Amino acid sequence: MKYTNTMVLALLLILAACTAQPVNSSVPGEATISIIHLNDTYRVGDVEEGRRGGYGRIATLVRELQAQGKIVRITHGGDLLFPSLESQLWNGEQMVEALNFLNDLAPTYFVPGNHEFDRRTSGAVVDAVRKSEFKWLGDNLHFETGETDVDSSLERAFIFSAGGRNIGIFALTLLPRDGGNDRAYARVEGEYLDVAERTIGKLERAGAELIFGLTHMHLADDKMLADLKLRHPSFMFIVGGHEHEPEFEAGSEGAATIMKGASNARTIWQIDITFDDGTPAISTTEIAVDQSIETDPEYQLLADKWRNRLLEIIPFLLSRVGEAALPLDGREVTLRNVESNWANFIVDQMPGAFGEPAADFAFINSGTLRIDDYVTDDITFEDIGRTFGFSSYLNHMTINGGDFRTLLEAGYRGDGPSKGYFPQISGFRVCVDRSRPEGQRIVQLQVPDNGGWQEIDNSRDYTLVVSDFIFRGGDGYDFSKARNVSRPGSELKYRVLDAILIAQAKGQKVGGPVDPKNRRIAMLVEGDESCY
Ligand SMILES: [Zn+2]
Repeated sequence: MKYTNTMVLALLLILAACTAQPVNSSVPGEATISIIHLNDTYRVGDVEEGRRGGYGRIATLVRELQAQGKIVRITHGGDLLFPSLESQLWNGEQMVEALNFLNDLAPTYFVPGNHEFDRRTSGAVVDAVRKSEFKWLGDNLHFETGETDVDSSLERAFIFSAGGRNIGIFALTLLPRDGGNDRAYARVEGEYLDVAERTIGKLERAGAELIFGLTHMHLADDKMLADLKLRHPSFMFIVGGHEHEPEFEAGSEGAATIMKGASNARTIWQIDITFDDGTPAISTTEIAVDQSIETDPEYQLLADKWRNRLLEIIPFLLSRVGEAALPLDGREVTLRNVESNWANFIVDQMPGAFGEPAADFAFINSGTLRIDDYVTDDITFEDIGRTFGFSSYLNHMTINGGDFRTLLEAGYRGDGPSKGYFPQISGFRVCVDRSRPEGQRIVQLQVPDNGGWQEIDNSRDYTLVVSDFIFRGGDGYDFSKARNVSRPGSELKYRVLDAILIAQAKGQKVGGPVDPKNRRIAMLVEGDESCY
């Protein structure tokens, strides 16, 4: 072959391009370290009728990255063991086995979330830690289960080596004051900022070349930590959990990048770490885990095993109890932001739960409803079981109109959408302006009046039914002004099942559309004075 001048020129250009192009690593051939991050996963299988999420699809992604020569590590941002239909039977053992599967593919690091400590006693956590092959990380967490192997199992100021590089992780769990479970066997302590900075210092001294946070807390607190990058430049990012929809806060010179995925691994994050002359750099990709990704066949065997066990224990799981009049939307993205037709049907079973006369109002925190899916066509026992991942006992009480309004403001606090404390309501309608200061966001709170609506009477007494969970202070609602409070009774799950069975017996379908002309929950449009 004879080289032409053009070919030589082209070769020279290519060579020039190679030298001019900044290479990502100082060590020739140094591999990229890919972190795959997921959080808030409650299901062994996938969700949205098989269309989204699932560890089986993550397994496929991990294998693909490894085939590309990348070194993969997996992080899980907490909320794994509870709540779910399966967890009521197996205390989260099924999720531990699922995450162990991923850990077999790529070492996996896990920070406990608040739901790990849903049980009042330590047994579930003890079993979970003992069965975990992945690592439990906790820098503000102390196990005091009385089992020495478990109590000493938490990794603190954790460093792993990958591709010849040392990467440090600080791990933080939600404090009880922010909605975390307050358990003697799992104490979460210290101010987030103090613990994070102290741990980052330790990681720096131990030789970590890049540091990141693995957290399960409110986004506002993650944002506060991100600023530590000013003083600690090797602290590059935070991957977290607790919010159930994707979050991304771009980083800068003085702030670490923050990422959270959607619940049930509907979206996850890939963070590629490279080193340029020893200086770490990251590139981040949000991945929609959908039908474009095949499910790993080996993982599917594990998912099938748990599915079959469930069907063995609950053989009537797929039995039809009723029929949905239309697709009933139980997805978290709906429940935690706007009025949901599935929630409306559920909450409407609450006012009558304590006999006649029915209570004036009822509401639940949307986090009570865990199905994260549509209920369509046949309603099965499984739909009911998945909707209620927790016990759902109810309390009846009396409250003054003004106090009710104040109490309900807690449902609209904070600066983001998609909160588990967002209320789904019955017996009243509410107009909310999120741009106002906290505690003053309810623009209108109206009650039925002779076929119409009128503003709530602040001085009058009303009767109210809520779940025992929020009555006891769960999700930040303050019921100290409630009077004549009943003992917890009448579990909502069975009220709902009963109502569906009655509808079925009458030949009626379940549910109705959200009425766009008369929304129970309306968000004030900018520039408007009121919603109704
Ligand atoms: Zn959480």
